[in-house]
Amino acid sequence: MVGKIHSLESFGTVDGPGIRFVVFMQGCPLRCLYCHNPDTWEIHRETPYQLEPEALLAEVLRYKNFIVKGGVTVTGGEPLLQPVFLKAFFRLCQENGIHTALDTSGYICSEKAFEVLDYVNLVLLDIKTFDSTLHPRLTGVGRENTLIFLNKLENRQIPVWIRHVLVPGLTDEDQSLEALAQFLSAYKMVQKVELLPYHTLGVHKYEALGIPYPLKGTEPLSKERLENAQNIFRKWGFKI
Ligand code: SF4
Repeated sequence: MVGKIHSLESFGTVDGPGIRFVVFMQGCPLRCLYCHNPDTWEIHRETPYQLEPEALLAEVLRYKNFIVKGGVTVTGGEPLLQPVFLKAFFRLCQENGIHTALDTSGYICSEKAFEVLDYVNLVLLDIKTFDSTLHPRLTGVGRENTLIFLNKLENRQIPVWIRHVLVPGLTDEDQSLEALAQFLSAYKMVQKVELLPYHTLGVHKYEALGIPYPLKGTEPLSKERLENAQNIFRKWGFKI
């Protein structure tokens, strides 16, 4: 069984607690307008790494001393597109005392995807928007599965960090943020909310792939709008 991997990062500091080995899986069923990794979308694209779980673990273990207080994060793309590989890899990590974090949109709610959760210490759940009308326009899919996934994590008592990208004029609107914060405040397993300002660092990838950039003209998020969003979530008692 082989995992199709887009890239590896050995000293990640922004994808979960501590210093982490980060695995970017290939393939994603969403098409977020602000995605800065469009090169991960196509599952059939050539990738530099096609590894068995044991081979990927061997790569991780080369850095074990550095990630001892951190761990491994698997992101993408959408990691749960390859659930059998992921379950085997996370199991090996935990057997070797390595903390496991899964970064996902929560879109894939299959039985096989839920089985991966048996070996996950932390989920970084990307909630794209709480606005059910905007969600399909923003991502190409509805928000229902993400909420089902969140409920599953709550029921299984798996710690969750919510991630939310703030795009000016699209997902930084007060009313929608307020509704999301209120909704999340009912979930005991949500430990933290990470508000990620929209940036344009991935635009060159669209040019290289010959895909029109859908948010052309959208400016990066201002400091004021970020602080405004942070204040809304703090008001509801969230650690930011
Ligand atoms: S879920 Fe992530 S990888 Fe997939 S399109 Fe959205 S931002 Fe890009």
